[in-house]
Amino acid sequence: MICTFLSTMVVGIFMLQVWLTDRRHAAAGYWCVSMWVGSLCTLLYALRPIGYPMLTVGFSNMLAALGYALMWAGFRVFDRRRAYPLVVVAGPVLWCFAYLFVPAITGDVNNRIILSSVIITTYSLWMGVDIWRGRGGERLPSRTLSAIFFLSHGVIYSLRIPMAIVSPAPLGNGTAHSAWFALFSLELFAHTILAAIAMLVLIKERGEALYRLASRTDALTGIANRGSFLEDTRILLAGRNDGTLMIFDLDRFKAVNDTHGHVAGDVVLKRFAACISASLEEGMLFCRFGGEEFALFAPRYDIAQAEEFAERLRQEVAALHILSEGREIDVSVSIGLADVATFGVDFDRLHSAADGALYAAKEAGRNRVMLAAPAAVLSGFAKRMCKSSAYSTGIAAAG
Ligand code: GH3
Ligand code: MG
Ligand code: MG
Repeated sequence: MICTFLSTMVVGIFMLQVWLTDRRHAAAGYWCVSMWVGSLCTLLYALRPIGYPMLTVGFSNMLAALGYALMWAGFRVFDRRRAYPLVVVAGPVLWCFAYLFVPAITGDVNNRIILSSVIITTYSLWMGVDIWRGRGGERLPSRTLSAIFFLSHGVIYSLRIPMAIVSPAPLGNGTAHSAWFALFSLELFAHTILAAIAMLVLIKERGEALYRLASRTDALTGIANRGSFLEDTRILLAGRNDGTLMIFDLDRFKAVNDTHGHVAGDVVLKRFAACISASLEEGMLFCRFGGEEFALFAPRYDIAQAEEFAERLRQEVAALHILSEGREIDVSVSIGLADVATFGVDFDRLHSAADGALYAAKEAGRNRVMLAAPAAVLSGFAKRMCKSSAYSTGIAAAG
C-alpha cells in the first residue's frame, strides 16, 4: 500500500507537469487528479490498523472508485469522447450509499470487497474497451498494449469476487487478511505503475504524431507539402512502370494578388487545393509544391488517361466561383504531364519533363493541359549538353 501510495503520488506530479506544460493535454489533468485521489486512498488503506473505519474503509473505498472514474474520464477526454459526469459519480455514489445504508456492506469485509471489485472492474474494462476502440481513429503504437493492461486488470480484479465468495478473507488489523488479498494488492501496485507509464507514453506518442503530421502538411492549404510528397512518390515509383506526374501552376496568380490582395490570393490557393483534393482517386498523391505550384502523382494512369483526368480538373478549376469583396476572381490553371512509361521512374527526370510541358502550356496561352513529348526531353537534354560544352569551352579558352 505504501509503494502504491508513493508511486501514484509521483505519477500525479508528472501528470501535473505534463498538463501545465501543454493545457491541450486535458486528459493529463484528469489523470493527475485521479492519481492523487488514488494516492490518498491507498494511504488511508494503509492506515486501517489504526482504526477509524468511516475514514479508512468507507471514505478510502469511495476515493478508489472516484480515482478509477476520473481515470476513465481522462481516457474519454483523451479520445475526444464525452466523459459523462453521471458515469464519473455513479461508482463513488453507489459505494457511499451501500456503505452508509446497507448493513451487509458496512459490516462484512467480503461483501465490501465484492462491491468495490464490481465498481473497479467496470471502470477498468470500460477503459480497456475505449482504448482499443480508439485504434480505429488514431493509430498510436502503445494503444494495443495499454488496452491489454486495462482489460487484463479488469479481469484480474473481477476474480476478487469469486475469491471473496469461495474463500472469504478473515478480518485482521482492520483489513482483509489473506494471502489472495495480498496478491491482488500487489497486482494493483503493478497495474498502477503500468497504467501510469501507458498514459505518459500515449500522451508522448500523440505529440509525436501531431508533429510528424505538421511536418508533412502545408500550413495554408492543409494538403501534403513538397517534402512528404517527394518521400511518398519516390517510394511509390520504386519498381513500377506506370503512372503519370502532373504539375499544376495557377495562371497569372501574381495579378490576383495585385488586384485582390494577398489574403484573397490565399483564399484562391485554398479553394484550388480543396477542389483538386475532392476529385482525387484512391492512391493518388497531391501536394503544394511551392507558391502557386502543385503536383499530383497518379499511379496506374497512362498518359492518355492522365490527360483526360487533368483536363477534367482544369475545367473544374476554371468553373470555380471565388468572390473577393463582391468581385469574382478569375482562376485558371496550366498543367504539365509526364508519364513513367516514357520518362522512367527517376523523379527528377519526370519532374523536369512535366515542368517542360507546363512551360509549353504557359507559352501556348495558359489554361490548358500539355504532355511532355520525348522529343522535348531530348531537345532539353541537347540544350543542356550545348550549355555544358560551351561552359567547358569557356573554361578551356580561359585556361
Ligand atoms: P504564370 O501564369 O506565368 O504562372 O504567372 P504567375 O503570376 O502565376 O507567376 P509568377 O511566378 O510571376 O507569380 C507567382 C505569384 O504567386 C507570386 C507570389 O507572390 C504568389 N504567391 C506565392 N505563394 C503565395 C502564397 O502563399 N499566397 C499568396 N497570396 N500568393 C503567393
Ligand atoms: Mg509559378
Ligand atoms: Mg503561376
